[in-house]
Amino acid sequence: MDAAHMGSDLERVLITEEEIHAKLDELAGQIATEYDGKDLLLVGVLKGAVMVMADLMRALPVSVPVDWMAVSSYGSGTKSSGVVRILKDLDGDISGRHVLIVEDIVDSGLTLSWIRSNLESRSPASVEICTLLRKPEAAKVEVDVKWVGFDIPNEFVVGYGLDYAEAYRGLRVVGTLAPHVYS
Ligand code: 5GP
Ligand code: MG
Ligand code: MG
Repeated sequence: MDAAHMGSDLERVLITEEEIHAKLDELAGQIATEYDGKDLLLVGVLKGAVMVMADLMRALPVSVPVDWMAVSSYGSGTKSSGVVRILKDLDGDISGRHVLIVEDIVDSGLTLSWIRSNLESRSPASVEICTLLRKPEAAKVEVDVKWVGFDIPNEFVVGYGLDYAEAYRGLRVVGTLAPHVYS
């Protein structure tokens, strides 16, 4: 799929590339201050958080180690199943370390609350969450998210790491899909 075709499948751009980068720069500044002098580990949740991680880690003024986890919750559909399964666990031990989970989106919150308690059971010094997007109206469980880029309406979005059936992750913006894509 070429870039022009990907773009034409969008109904509406919700967040532009410039807005995303400005916001991640701002969050990176806050995160750098918060963890100054601490043993911070960024934990990205594959695959959606790849873009957020890439831009957030480059916006940080210091070099921070990164690890990845992959879980399944959605399959190729657009509704949360509530079932979380570890597809790829962290490479390393997190005991005694300050963990910052980096996510693309908090929708129902089911996945993140599961990941958070899973990581908390491994004796880290702390666990906090940074997400680019959050849908407040879709929350099914309360998740304490320390850093949120943008609160968005309760609509299915793609781009900047977020997929629909594994497509659109490479879009530089976040937007909603045109109805013809679903049918
Ligand atoms: P939650 O468990 O909070 O409902 O969401 C779990 C995962 O579902 C997110 O990390 C994300 O990968 C995916 N997801 C949730 N909402 C959306 C959305 O609007 N668009 C896309 N592409 N994925 C979503
Ligand atoms: Mg995600
Ligand atoms: Mg997905």
